[in-house]
Amino acid sequence: MVPLSQHTSRDTSMWIGINLADPIFRGRYHGKSRHPDDLQGVIDRAKEVGCTKLLITGSSFKSSRDALKIASKFPNVVFTTAGIHPCSSSIFSPSHHKHHDESQSEDESADQHTPACGPDPTKPILDGEGVDHARSEVIISDLKDLITTAPKNSLIAFGEFGLDYDRLHYCSKEVQLHSFAAQLRLAASLSPQLPLFLHSRAAHGDFVRLLKDAFGPRLENLQKGGVVHSFTGTIEEAKELMDLGLYIGINGCSFKTVENCEVVKQIDLSKMMLETDGPWCEVRPTHEGWKYLVQFEEARRKEEEEKKRLEEEERQKQEKIEAERKAQEELEKKAAELELRGGVEGGKVGREGEKKRQRQPKKPKQQQQPQGKKNQKKESEVPDRFKVVKKEKWEEGAMVKGRNEPCTIERIARIVAGIKGVGVEEVCEAAWENTAKVFGPF
Ligand SMILES: [Zn+2]
Repeated sequence: MVPLSQHTSRDTSMWIGINLADPIFRGRYHGKSRHPDDLQGVIDRAKEVGCTKLLITGSSFKSSRDALKIASKFPNVVFTTAGIHPCSSSIFSPSHHKHHDESQSEDESADQHTPACGPDPTKPILDGEGVDHARSEVIISDLKDLITTAPKNSLIAFGEFGLDYDRLHYCSKEVQLHSFAAQLRLAASLSPQLPLFLHSRAAHGDFVRLLKDAFGPRLENLQKGGVVHSFTGTIEEAKELMDLGLYIGINGCSFKTVENCEVVKQIDLSKMMLETDGPWCEVRPTHEGWKYLVQFEEARRKEEEEKKRLEEEERQKQEKIEAERKAQEELEKKAAELELRGGVEGGKVGREGEKKRQRQPKKPKQQQQPQGKKNQKKESEVPDRFKVVKKEKWEEGAMVKGRNEPCTIERIARIVAGIKGVGVEEVCEAAWENTAKVFGPF
């Protein structure tokens, strides 16, 4: 087993779902600047693991526009989506008091994008407020403008949008349903259509119903397909989505429990895409999926040790051959000398020669073991490929603790490979093919 970068048999591999437009990748945390903008470093690290094309998800007007700006700086490397995430959908409600396109606001709080992972059950927004339909028309028309005027080689998907009933504290169910349905109608009306980047959390029934309303009972009118990203649902739900021709996006959130991993095991590789969903959804040691990273590292260490052992064996063999060759040479030299002396002092020299011969060949010295191995710090079970520091101690070239970034995609591939009992290469190839099929050509 070798690092992912060596597993990918082609130069380019694309991975979906990274919220690179989040200010956190420019050094801004909760509206405060904590360290220099290191977006270039983030992209360089991604490239180093073999991830040379990235799909940034837009989840609001602001983040969709920010994503397009980044894409313009990294042509043919960074691609984007545009849409309104369920957690950003309160712009459709009558009580929303800011302009829906936050990029027109100087408000610093608009700096923060919606966090992605984990339900927060406190204070859900209840239904009953209704939808501001006049505003909704303006929002959908603005979104259409954004999508149709964006460079076609940058903006390659519609989304992320969908339903998230785990986080009703950002937006009520009724407003989410309106937001999703209205955007689906827009997506279906586009000519040509774009592939869909979908979000569904604890809302499967409504999610599938609205998709069918917009694209037909078999999604037969969905021209470019789509991916349901960050999947954490049941196997029955996954099967229904796959039967409808949709792809399933897997990230760190998909490996939290034994049940999650069992679902991943049953998702066809031909229907799977890989993502990090950074800066969130990193794989943690408490997740069920972590054990596959430990297994991967163990296997890699064993393989390395075996390689070293074989190399050492070969080295000793060569030394022995060399020593024997030298001894033979010495013998022949001595024999020739004896012949020259014509045996005058033959007996004496002969006996001395014999003694010397018995001392030859010298045994090769055993190589010394590297010193201080015992004193070395115990390595983490799963070592980080790059140095990781706290944001307060940021340094050039290091990852920031707790800020998931695209280069960790190799962990997602390794865990999927471990769960499914297949090679990492097979997982990468399949995910690449699926991603290119839906979002390509690149
Ligand atoms: Zn999402």
